[in-house]
Amino acid sequence: MSYEAVIGLEVHVQVRTRTKLFSGCPYDYGAEPNTLTDPVVLGLPGALPVLNYEAIRQGIKAGLIFGCRIAELCKWDRKHYFYPDCPKNYQISQYDQPLCRGGSVEIELPGRSRNLMGEHRQVALNRIHLEEDVGKLSHGEEDSLVDYNRAGVPLLEIVSEPDIFSPDEAFAYLHSLQMHLIYAGISDGDMEKGQLRCDANVSLRPTGSSVLGTRVELKNLNSISGVRNGLAYEITRQGKVLRDGGQVEQETRRWDAERHISLSMRNKEMADDYRYFPDPDLMPVRIDEETLNSLRAELPELPFRKQERYQADYGLPYTITSVLCPDAALAAFFEEALRHYHAPQAIAKFVANDLLRELGGSESLTLQTMPLRPENLAELVRLSEEGKISKQLAQDLFVEIFRSGEPAEALINKKGLGQSFPREELIALCQKIIAEQPKPVEEYRRGKVNALNALKGPVMKETKGRADPQLIDRILRELLS
Ligand code: ADP
Ligand code: MG
Repeated sequence: MSYEAVIGLEVHVQVRTRTKLFSGCPYDYGAEPNTLTDPVVLGLPGALPVLNYEAIRQGIKAGLIFGCRIAELCKWDRKHYFYPDCPKNYQISQYDQPLCRGGSVEIELPGRSRNLMGEHRQVALNRIHLEEDVGKLSHGEEDSLVDYNRAGVPLLEIVSEPDIFSPDEAFAYLHSLQMHLIYAGISDGDMEKGQLRCDANVSLRPTGSSVLGTRVELKNLNSISGVRNGLAYEITRQGKVLRDGGQVEQETRRWDAERHISLSMRNKEMADDYRYFPDPDLMPVRIDEETLNSLRAELPELPFRKQERYQADYGLPYTITSVLCPDAALAAFFEEALRHYHAPQAIAKFVANDLLRELGGSESLTLQTMPLRPENLAELVRLSEEGKISKQLAQDLFVEIFRSGEPAEALINKKGLGQSFPREELIALCQKIIAEQPKPVEEYRRGKVNALNALKGPVMKETKGRADPQLIDRILRELLS
C-alpha cells in the first residue's frame, strides 16, 4: 500500500507595532532580559489592558491580502494555563471568533530548473487570529531562566487547512507567507529572531483516500529548512509504522535539528483544557466598512502580481523578476530608477546583478543606507544606452557610484573618460587591430558579419571603453569594405 502525506501548518507571526498588544510598553529584539515589561505585561493586580489598535489594523491587512472574510467584531478570550512563561496565568487570544476566516496563500512550487517559473497553487487557510506572545524560557543544567520582554507582543496565528502535501510544498508555503507579510509591512518575518514560528501537523493516508489519518504535531522547527527536514523525517517515520502494521499515535513531537530526529513530547490524550472565556477587561471592537476600505487602499501590489506585470510590461525574464519582485524595496528602487530613465531591461539587469553583488559584498551597506540613488543608476544606464560609454565602462563605474553616489556624468568628466576618443586615433587603432587579426577579417569578408565582434572587442579594450561602440562599428565596416 502506498501512502500520501497531508500537512497543515500553524504559524505564529510577530506583528510589527511600536508597542505591545495591550500596553504602551515597547518591544525591541535583543534588549536586556526583563527590561521591557510593565504591570500589564506582568499581570500585576489592578493593572488593566488597553488595546493597541494598530495590531488589529495589521491583522486585517493580513486577512485582506490572503482574501479572508474579516470578522465584524474583534473579540478577546482568555486562554488559561499555568507555566512560568505566562505571567498572568492566562494568555489573551481569540477563540470562537477569529479576526479572519478562510482565504488562501498562493504558493510557487519548485520549477523544473531554477531558471523556470514553477506551478502556482492556492493553499487554503482555516483562520487567522490575534493573540499576545508569552515570555521566553531558557533551560540550563541546574536552573531555568525566564525573560518577559516578549510577553504581550502581538502575534498573528495563521492556521492552514490540511491542504499541503509534501515538505517541498510546506517550504514554498512558508516562503510565500513570509514574503507577503514582509511585503505588506505586517511583520519583519525573521525566523532567526523568532518573528515567525511554525508548528507542523502531519499525517499519512492511503494514496487517493479522502479521509484524514491520525496526525502528529511537530514543534521546535526553527527555520524554513528545519520545517522541510522535520516533515520529511516524520513522513518516513509514520510510513514505517504503518507498513509494519502499526498505528500512528496522536502526539506532539519535538524536532531535534542537530540529531535530525523527532522525539515524543506528550500525548494529545491529555488534551489541554484552557477554560476559554471572553476577557471581561476588554471590549470587543467593531470593524466597519470604512476601516476595511482605508486598509484596502494601503495594500501594496503583491509580489506574484508584480512579477506578472514586469514580465508583461517590460518583457523581463523569470530569472530577473524572481530576484526583483520578492523584495519590495528592491522592486521599488528599480521602478524609481525607471521613472528617471525608461530602460527596463538594462536597469533591471543592473539591479539584479551588479547592485545585489555589491550589496552582498559589503558588510555595512544595505539597500537603505547605500549612497547609490535610483537617479544615479538611471543616469549611468542612459549614458551607456546612448553610446556615450561602453557597457563595460558602465559596469566598472557602477562599482564606484555604488559606494560614492556620485552622479555618473560628473565622475566621467573628473576621470577624463567622457572625452570621446579622437576619431583619427580610433581609425589608426582599428587599422592596427585589422592588421593583427587576419582570421576574423577573412571571415568577415566571406560574409560572416559576427566576425566583426572579434575585432571590436580588442579596439574597445585599448580605448578602455572610452570610444562609442557604434562609431567603432562604423569605422571597422568602412575600413573593411
Ligand atoms: P488544534 O485544535 O489541535 O489546534 P486544529 O484543528 O486547529 O487542531 O488544527 C491544527 C492544524 O493541524 C491545522 O493546520 C490543520 O490543518 C492541521 N490538521 C488537522 N488535522 C490534520 C490531519 N489529520 N493531518 C494533517 N494536518 C492536520
Ligand atoms: Mg489550533
